[in-house]
Amino acid sequence: MSSLEASAEDGLPTLGHFIGGKEVSGGTRKAEVFNPATGEVSRMVSLADAATLDSAVQAAQDAYPAWRQTPPQKRAQILFRFKQLLEQHAEEICTLITLEHGKVIDDAHGELSRGIEVVEYACGISELLKGEFSKNAGPDIDSWSEFQPLGIVAGITPFNFPAMVPMWMFPLAIACGNTFILKPSERDPSASIRIARLLSEAGLPDGVFNVVNGDADTVQLILDEKRIQAVSFVGSTPIAESIYQRGTAAGKRVQALGGAKNHAVIMPDADVDNAVSALMGAAYGSCGERCMAISVAVCVGDEVADAVVARLEERIGRMKVGPGINANNDMGPLVTRAALQRVLHYLEEGQQQGAELVVDGRDLNVEGFEQGFFLGPCLFDQVTRGMSIYQDEIFGPVLCVMRVDSLQQAMELINEHEYGNGTCLFTRDGESARFFTDNIQVGMVGINVALPVPVASQSFGGWKRSLFGDLYVYGPDAIRFYTRRKTMTQRWPASKISEKTHYAFPSS
Ligand code: NAD
Repeated sequence: MSSLEASAEDGLPTLGHFIGGKEVSGGTRKAEVFNPATGEVSRMVSLADAATLDSAVQAAQDAYPAWRQTPPQKRAQILFRFKQLLEQHAEEICTLITLEHGKVIDDAHGELSRGIEVVEYACGISELLKGEFSKNAGPDIDSWSEFQPLGIVAGITPFNFPAMVPMWMFPLAIACGNTFILKPSERDPSASIRIARLLSEAGLPDGVFNVVNGDADTVQLILDEKRIQAVSFVGSTPIAESIYQRGTAAGKRVQALGGAKNHAVIMPDADVDNAVSALMGAAYGSCGERCMAISVAVCVGDEVADAVVARLEERIGRMKVGPGINANNDMGPLVTRAALQRVLHYLEEGQQQGAELVVDGRDLNVEGFEQGFFLGPCLFDQVTRGMSIYQDEIFGPVLCVMRVDSLQQAMELINEHEYGNGTCLFTRDGESARFFTDNIQVGMVGINVALPVPVASQSFGGWKRSLFGDLYVYGPDAIRFYTRRKTMTQRWPASKISEKTHYAFPSS
């Protein structure tokens, strides 16, 4: 008997799926969902099989014709009610997030509010879908483009933002008239089901939004499903790349956002106290499990580096690490034991490869939570380009300090790294800032802003191996991703067309 079956027999609750407006069970396989603070299994989650996915696709297909024809302002009214419900139920949703992800409750509120901002943007869908019109494109001829929905689209999301990342996708997808199937992370699936119920309560017709829980096997079924027209994926780079390749080969439209290694450059003229305050939140917030986390601080000159390291060490000493549900804590545990082991492995490798471990988070003991997946904040100095702690995305509370002599050297490092998600520069000099924003090979850039996550009316995405596909998520790019342009050319009156036949290509 597998440990999963044993746990199921222990009588733990099992989370199912949300299909056609109802919570349903489906699939015989299950996975364990942990409370990362205690290390205990808190529930099981069903992993969808082919029949479960088929019923979700059928529900989405049945709902599509009427939803597509629903006027955009009516769709917006439902989304507006949904936004209000999200706000009313914020504490409950954020508690679910904290208990399964581990992040501190304030951070869960932060992610939810960034998700709500996308819902607010989607409420303007009437304006966003207005289309384009050319009067008198030729004699008596008018031409216009409209943006029609694709049909059924799917979203596959990572564990680290169980509410926000799905909300980067579905509010705009459904606002555009599509129906949606979400496959959330199997590590923290409960928030998605709660959100699905709120959408129903807001008046969303059954089948427009469905949640299919599952793992890699379920994702393969989604990629093979011909009725699904497009896939938005957010997760690690190897999986993003394979999903992009398989999905596009199957004729789907795919945007696949991957991993990151985000550098902050601290110039000699920067306000070091401000930079260090910003770095603390950006490196250790959410235990470093953010795709926009700063994991490398590149200090220009040894003087800045010494000051940054000393202040970081002092600030780290004051951090409170413990269960995220306790609002006094600054940082919670990692998401799973496997995630913890992975980070521990990098700490060993970093030391073996010659980096100086200034603060060793392994010394941490969280009393009463000895089985939790905790690791204290870690700080490496003297990190160099060839080390695996520099090359790889660690996705944990580990900040690497690198020392360079000039802004150009810092920018070379960043531009040569395989990832290009986010970066930032701390400086008081406008010329350096402008040079940096003009020339850095990264998709999202901050100047004295450590986490430059774009607002909902912009779009979010990285360069290089941080994004496969052409369009970013949310904002204006999402309207293009979730619609297909159709261009009409129309002549009125239709009579009195010259009797002479023209064989030349029509021109105005
Ligand atoms: P992950 O790649 O392990 O999983 C993401 C999703 O893919 C999950 O739904 C998972 O069930 C599914 N999946 C896992 N293995 C699969 C496989 N072999 N085939 C098909 N599907 C599979 O990522 P994660 O650990 O949940 O999330 C952390 C990663 O996500 C980090 O690399 C982080 O940088 C990245 N991320 C990126 C962004 C961004 O905007 N670029 C945002 C958030 C997270």
